[in-house]
Amino acid sequence: MRKITGKILTYDTEFNGILKDGKNIYNVPNVIYNETVEVDVDAKPLRVKILEKSDKRVTPPCDIYYQCGGCKLLHIKYDEQLNMKTEYVRRLFSDHYGKGDLVNKCIGMSKPCSYRNKNQVVFGNHPKEKLISGFYQENTHKIIPFTKCYVQDELSDEIVKIVKDILIKMHISAYDEDKKRGLVRHVMVKRSFKTKETMVIIVTASDNFPGRSNFVKALTARCKNITTIVQNVNSRSTSAVLGNQEFVLYGKGYIIDELCGKKFKISSKSFYQINPYQTEVLYNTALVQAGLKNTDVILDAYSGVGTIGLIASSMVKKVLSVEIEKSATADAMFNAKINNIKNVSFFNDDASNFIVNLANRKEHMDAIIMDPPRSGSDERFIKSVLKLLPQKVIYISCNPKTQVIDLKMLTEKYEIKFIQPVDMFPHTAHVENIVCLERK
Ligand code: SAH
Repeated sequence: MRKITGKILTYDTEFNGILKDGKNIYNVPNVIYNETVEVDVDAKPLRVKILEKSDKRVTPPCDIYYQCGGCKLLHIKYDEQLNMKTEYVRRLFSDHYGKGDLVNKCIGMSKPCSYRNKNQVVFGNHPKEKLISGFYQENTHKIIPFTKCYVQDELSDEIVKIVKDILIKMHISAYDEDKKRGLVRHVMVKRSFKTKETMVIIVTASDNFPGRSNFVKALTARCKNITTIVQNVNSRSTSAVLGNQEFVLYGKGYIIDELCGKKFKISSKSFYQINPYQTEVLYNTALVQAGLKNTDVILDAYSGVGTIGLIASSMVKKVLSVEIEKSATADAMFNAKINNIKNVSFFNDDASNFIVNLANRKEHMDAIIMDPPRSGSDERFIKSVLKLLPQKVIYISCNPKTQVIDLKMLTEKYEIKFIQPVDMFPHTAHVENIVCLERK
């Protein structure tokens, strides 16, 4: 057992503290800058004792914080979390462009709890309690039951409990991955905080759900807020939660949310931002920076269900919206229709293929808004932006690490004008970041 004592003076990119011992570097979870710690470095996971506590340390308001792994920063005061995220982005932009000073303080939430509009809970069998529901312990398939999750919507967690209760009464078992027996794998609840519409998705291992109409009757009787119930069938043994086959058991099979005054359809599978409060902050901040005019033609790349482009549509002449997922593009077109928006064209394509063609055709673009997945964009996309040369590029990223790499080429012809981190996922290690660039 080797014990190492030292002070935490920096964080890694996941906000673990870094402890140095000669040439060795240890990434220590759940510690805070300036704390003196003793770490048993042979233990797996590392065993940590705090010798000198930071005044930024708080008792995490969650019973399973140290087992779950969903949140990483619940032991730190919220304002300090925002400072850490700001500093992380500042360091990235200082190292790459010397533009650290441009980074604004990360915009946080006034009430950073119960913000998730979606929960996802795994079900398992238990000898005494019959069924348990919870989260997988980080990097394992062990189910950690929970009664209340600090970041999830309270009613959604309550609905999961009611579902469990009904399933126990109906003698329905959870799916056992090893024995490949049983029925219920996961339950997911998606809600709109604005319209209050609520969808329950019950993921089963086979399509045969005995007593499903009784289940629907019992659930809707006990929870009046539920507007739709979907059965999703996932018979595969992959880590993906949802399968391809689906049955609408109750209601219309999707819910409608509202963001920035526009309506959006949320279905079981569509990508949709999980923190609606901060999504409005994110979109509004990005669109104000874009400074759009009613003569502008803009591109919304990596558009998901069309949110940003549809919200921007009333400020501009025309929007092109490109997204690779077929179902998301279909949802985006549906969203245009329900909002009576006619100046957005939707393309179901790889964003790079699409923009290469735009550049070859020498189309005129006034602004490009891009919001790629964590892996970032690619060289073909960026090279085409440099050919199209729109006045402004707004790059929204859920992973500033790949964002700074993508920006490298753009800064040949663009100047970084504005950098704004937004806390979309309080208490987790994720940071969202908006960068606004203008043609030099
Ligand atoms: N702008 C949207 C979605 C952002 S998430 C919003 O704010 O809700 C990123 C989106 O990029 C996802 O919908 C994903 O399906 C899509 N995507 C991933 N790779 C892509 C590619 N190569 N071309 C186009 N879209 C892609």
